[in-house]
Amino acid sequence: MKGLLDTQFESGGVIVTKVDDLINWARLSSLWPMGFGLACCAIEMMGAYASSYDLDRFGVIPRASPRQSDVMIVAGTVTFKMADRVRRLYEQMPEPRYVISMGSCSNCGGPYWEHGYHVVKGVDRIIPVDVYVPGCPPRPEALIGGILKLRDKIREETLMAPTALQAIMDKEKQNA
Ligand code: SF4
Repeated sequence: MKGLLDTQFESGGVIVTKVDDLINWARLSSLWPMGFGLACCAIEMMGAYASSYDLDRFGVIPRASPRQSDVMIVAGTVTFKMADRVRRLYEQMPEPRYVISMGSCSNCGGPYWEHGYHVVKGVDRIIPVDVYVPGCPPRPEALIGGILKLRDKIREETLMAPTALQAIMDKEKQNA
């Protein structure tokens, strides 16, 4: 019985790509977010997973453990009481890991900006954020837009350390 590779390559076809592109394609096609929500924005996030919007079609499938998650969607109000837990969960996620800040509360404190003594004024004060999704709450389409932005970002990543890559590029410039 023929395997998949036999079937695809029986006519002698060759696929040429970079390792970076192959790994990035795999990463961006199977982003697994950690399944948790902090406030009302989480309702819209759940809506994005439901059949009308169907985030699964992008390979975005929520996981119950930070150890199995690539991306944290911070959906809702980050109180000081929760901040430690959010940071701890982020640290438990394996590298490479990404963060989407969903909604005004998570982006900057939202309606609690001025008088919310109990609210962290932006989750980026405790963990690094890759993509900000604006709104109070953002609609599921906006969250999907944020995920597509994150996919674009991952598409540009390289396995090489930036300093090593820069050194090679500098050397090539000198040789040119
Ligand atoms: Fe709720 Fe608005 Fe804050 Fe989202 S941004 S958690 S909808 S108050």
